[in-house]
Amino acid sequence: MSVAANNNSKQVQYYNYGPGSIKHLGGLLESKAGYHLYVIDHYFRDKDLISKLPVNSVDYVLWLDTTHEPKTDQIDALKDEVFNAKNQERPGAIIGIGGGSSLDTAKALANLFNNPGKAEDYQGWDLVQHPGVYKIGIPTISGTGAESSRTCVMTNVRTGLKLGMNSDFTIYDQLILDPDLTKTVPRDQYFYTGMDSYIHCIESLNGSHRNAIGDAFSEETLKLCRDAFLGGDMQSDENRGKLMVASYLGGCAIANSYVGIIHPFSAGLSVVLGTHHCIANCITMMAMEEFYPKEFEEFNRMAEAQKVTIPRGIAANLTDEQYQQLYNSTVIHEKPLTNALGADFKKILTLEKATELFKKM
Ligand code: NAD
Ligand code: ZN
Repeated sequence: MSVAANNNSKQVQYYNYGPGSIKHLGGLLESKAGYHLYVIDHYFRDKDLISKLPVNSVDYVLWLDTTHEPKTDQIDALKDEVFNAKNQERPGAIIGIGGGSSLDTAKALANLFNNPGKAEDYQGWDLVQHPGVYKIGIPTISGTGAESSRTCVMTNVRTGLKLGMNSDFTIYDQLILDPDLTKTVPRDQYFYTGMDSYIHCIESLNGSHRNAIGDAFSEETLKLCRDAFLGGDMQSDENRGKLMVASYLGGCAIANSYVGIIHPFSAGLSVVLGTHHCIANCITMMAMEEFYPKEFEEFNRMAEAQKVTIPRGIAANLTDEQYQQLYNSTVIHEKPLTNALGADFKKILTLEKATELFKKM
């Protein structure tokens, strides 16, 4: 959830969509002076993608380990690494290549190069003061909408805060949306991440904080998700293209909407049990029948059609203390829970009720 404080919505300025569109990267970078910083998911380290990139000898490539989702300290360390290697010189452009973790890391770095202090100083809304370094986003897995949203999610391990730099300056200047790049995503991961688009939009459309443009983005996103997940193999050429567009539009919807009950529960799983965002959403979905009955049924139909299994029982046998922690890190998300259940949401979501839901997952 990342609504602009003044209700004024900025979007990505340029995008280049289509299979093979990665070939345009060189042309886009020609006018960008200085060295270029590439932030690339480590999966691609020994793959032939690098041969398609216009990397030259002065450029800096950061192979990003995405085993864990981005942390504020990690972003600070990466910034120092690059500054030290480049005599404190800023890059002329940053190129983020990968999923939400890589795209968000590149966004956070772009802001930090032009704003003093640490990543944690900018967790919140509209705290970034200066435009970041020019940045290009190139997703290689579809679903989070990180390519088009105005935030970059990071966890501050000390405070337990999982929150991004919500700012107009966080939005990419340019995207390359090349569905060829998502061919190699493992099936389960492809489904879990793709479902982030679907889940965000069903939450928005079932909420009370509505906006006509947000609704339109959400409705189109859902249509494309249904095509992609119920229309044959989700990873066919056509469906990979559709899901990439769904992800982009879903990210645009985020700027105009709030999520609902699923994302807060999912955040609880991430904070307390370390579960990754997209799989945590899917796990949460399995306990959401009473809140989202139609969508619960449709979600299960999609998983079945794609022969994907959702892990069960991860929060079935925890201690009372753990359930209390899960509860605390769920109900802290007041805006989406109010959007879904009203200002009195804690009367519905008591500790007992939330524990029952966690046990159902
Ligand atoms: P990810 O970036 O964490 O990557 C997931 C896995 O897929 C990794 O193992 C990665 O190596 C692999 N992968 C990526 N592309 C691949 C490819 N083409 N072939 C093979 N493997 C590939 O995944 P994600 O689900 O896209 O992103 C999750 C992150 O996004 C979380 O940190 C979450 O908080 C964040 N997020 C951000 C926003 C936003 O608006 N900024 C929104 C939702 C989620
Ligand atoms: Zn999400």
